[in-house]
Amino acid sequence: MSSPRNPSAAPRTPTVQHAEQATPHSPPPMPDWYQQGLPHIWLPYSQMKTAPAPLAARSTQNARIQLTDGRELVDGVAAWWTACHGYNHPHIRAAVQAQLETMPHVMFGGMVHEPALRLASRLSALLPGDLERVFFTDSGSVAVEVAMKMAIQYRLNTGEPKRTKMLAFKGGYHGDTLATMAVCDPEEGMHHLYGDVLATHIIAPLPQDEESEAAFFKLLDEHAHELTAILTEPLVQGAGGMLFHAPAVLRTLRAAADRYGLLLILDEIFTGFGRTGTMFACEQAGIVPDIITLSKALTGGTMALAATVARPHVFEAFLSDTPDHALMHGPTFMANALACASANAALDLFETEPRLEQVAAINRHLTEALEPCRMLPGVKDVRVLGAIGVVELEKIANPDALRQRFIAENVWIRPFRSIVYVTPAFTIPPEDLRILTDAIYRVLST
Ligand SMILES: *Cc1c(COP(=O)(O)O)cnc(C)c1O
Repeated sequence: MSSPRNPSAAPRTPTVQHAEQATPHSPPPMPDWYQQGLPHIWLPYSQMKTAPAPLAARSTQNARIQLTDGRELVDGVAAWWTACHGYNHPHIRAAVQAQLETMPHVMFGGMVHEPALRLASRLSALLPGDLERVFFTDSGSVAVEVAMKMAIQYRLNTGEPKRTKMLAFKGGYHGDTLATMAVCDPEEGMHHLYGDVLATHIIAPLPQDEESEAAFFKLLDEHAHELTAILTEPLVQGAGGMLFHAPAVLRTLRAAADRYGLLLILDEIFTGFGRTGTMFACEQAGIVPDIITLSKALTGGTMALAATVARPHVFEAFLSDTPDHALMHGPTFMANALACASANAALDLFETEPRLEQVAAINRHLTEALEPCRMLPGVKDVRVLGAIGVVELEKIANPDALRQRFIAENVWIRPFRSIVYVTPAFTIPPEDLRILTDAIYRVLST
């Protein structure tokens, strides 16, 4: 079979089709690492039998991605919504490099360090209200799991052990792990196949009108005794299809949580750090959740880091002489010093560069430039909030094929479900932003 010198010799079955080519005439050969490594990679959310070959990225700069074949794409996604300061921002790079010199990582059990503690106090100051106790993790899904564990153990510690369920919402997305899949939209979600093995929580329509509000309060009357928390993404349900709701909905949730003695958990992993026009989406509703989760843009897309932040009354339920009352969680790489250094640098940039003004300028451009798409055949809705622009179609028959058409326009836009959307870096130059919106109009009109 495979020789020792080449343990990665040809796989038996082809896994992906040939990489798309720069021109029909002279496809530049893909680099060795690509050809040798691709048969060993399992890509996310991909049917590996039919997925188009992944692009080979070589370098990034601000809102652009350079490929190994010489092409350059304008990035409409900002690395899954993380790179809000643009790629390779010199200030973040310098901070990570400096941290690398002194201490890349140290365990966070029984030991703390400056980048993490500085970040925790800065997040507390930045977040609304008294959200001031920070638990660091290394991915968004785990941050949500920690929030769920906090909410469940909060009840155990306060003598209400039957109240373990979450009330979450249709259209929601909170992560890919087994615990977080159970609070995502059960049908629309990417996880319906796992239905039978997931924990059961209560998933309701968001209370957005009289009818859904009545249903929501009826559910609470029936189920509050077994619920610990209400969980939602505020203002925008991202991965569920970029669905927007009004700030008033969040005020309804806050009032309901207070009335029924529930915790309110807001998952701001996507919306946090300026994406919806304010630093945090919940500011637009003037409410403070009991627990908030953050990740994605926290480090400006440079390092993996997430945080679950609780208010004092949640934290205090864990203070006890009973060892069982401590929060039992601790990821190996929690509060990684490089990641915390890059997050501190990313927070600096909100102070030293006009980020929210840039978001407002992107908002004006998206509002104007995407509006004409409404007239195109097959377009169901056009909506813009902060630096999020969405064109919803009646249906996208083949998202992979549509993505390839965007690549042919030299833009990186990933349609999913029935939407084409952009969430660019806040630092995207106006010319690049126009390239994105022109490409959307052109591709959708032909
Ligand atoms: C991306 C996302 C998550 C999951 O984060 P990962 O880092 O991918 O685990 C959870 N909640 C929301 C709202 C997200 O957008």
